[in-house]
Amino acid sequence: MNIVLLGPPGAGKGTQAKRIEEKFGLIQLSTGDMLRAAVASGSEIGLKAKAIMEAGQLVPDEVVIALIADRIDRPDAKRGFILDGFPRTTKQAEALDRMLAEKGIKLDHVIEMKVDDALLVDRIAGRYTCAKCGAGYHDRNQRPRVEGVCDACGSTEFRRRADDNAETVSKRLQAYHAQTAPILPYYRAQGALKTIDGMAPIDAVTGALVRILAAPTAKAPAAKTRPAAKAKPKAAAKSRPKAKRRAKTAPKKAKRPVKPKDKRKAKRPVPAARRKVPRRAARAAAGRRSGARRKSR
Ligand code: ADP
Ligand code: ADP
Ligand code: ZN
Repeated sequence: MNIVLLGPPGAGKGTQAKRIEEKFGLIQLSTGDMLRAAVASGSEIGLKAKAIMEAGQLVPDEVVIALIADRIDRPDAKRGFILDGFPRTTKQAEALDRMLAEKGIKLDHVIEMKVDDALLVDRIAGRYTCAKCGAGYHDRNQRPRVEGVCDACGSTEFRRRADDNAETVSKRLQAYHAQTAPILPYYRAQGALKTIDGMAPIDAVTGALVRILAAPTAKAPAAKTRPAAKAKPKAAAKSRPKAKRRAKTAPKKAKRPVKPKDKRKAKRPVPAARRKVPRRAARAAAGRRSGARRKSR
């Protein structure tokens, strides 16, 4: 399965890509991460990209297209990938189509994560990652379970991106609206685009993504197992809550709830006449009784 996650900076693409890569056995390919690695290594690409990234602008199409072309050729991308941050221009989207057509592979889902600009500034200003494993956090929205310690690897070192500042954010948002948003109609016209609410809590966004990604694969095995008549009731029973399962499969136990009632009745016998009185009337009667007692003291 091959997926593109589209959305403005801070929409949650990286956060969700990491969650679904494990769940679906895919690999996250982030052009932002690739470019940051190039900058850190001081390579030729890195030297070209550094100033552009710090200014919140887009690195030239040829550079990122070459990066992705090289990356999806590697063996670990063969089982499926999540493109995070690519394509970002119509030229990149067209180049991707050509690349995939040459390789005989297709995009299964293009998913837009929609988030209002007003929310993105806070998302980006509060973002930080584990310096050792890259796990993503946020000052308020996604804190480690133990303050200062990475949930995933236990590291106590974290870092913030050089371009995650208020000034650059507005430039990056402008770049998104001017250069990236126009590729939405391109994918919509192909019938490949699905939009989800990226403003929902992180788990809810994962849920929405999983529903999209699991839909075709969930149907296929169900159709295959249908002829195996015996397997079906078992699977159905497993998905039922425990209590219901017990009630249907063990009729003897279903009688249990009756016993304690009987015992209570046995300990505290209630006159047959009063048992038939409707509850509200019985409570009113009890109130009158206690009131009478209080008065008499
Ligand atoms: P992107 O990769 O799209 O730029 P990130 O995944 O890095 O975005 O998310 C940006 C920041 O917002 C991170 O600090 C992350 O913890 C936080 N975040 C991501 N998704 C949500 C969400 N649904 N609700 C609140 N905060 C979120
Ligand atoms: P975010 O999701 O927060 O915008 P990324 O990590 O995807 O951040 O990208 C960081 C920066 O890297 C971008 O602002 C841009 O300068 C550069 N970049 C990443 N991907 C691309 C791309 N596909 N095309 C051009 N520039 C890119
Ligand atoms: Zn870590």
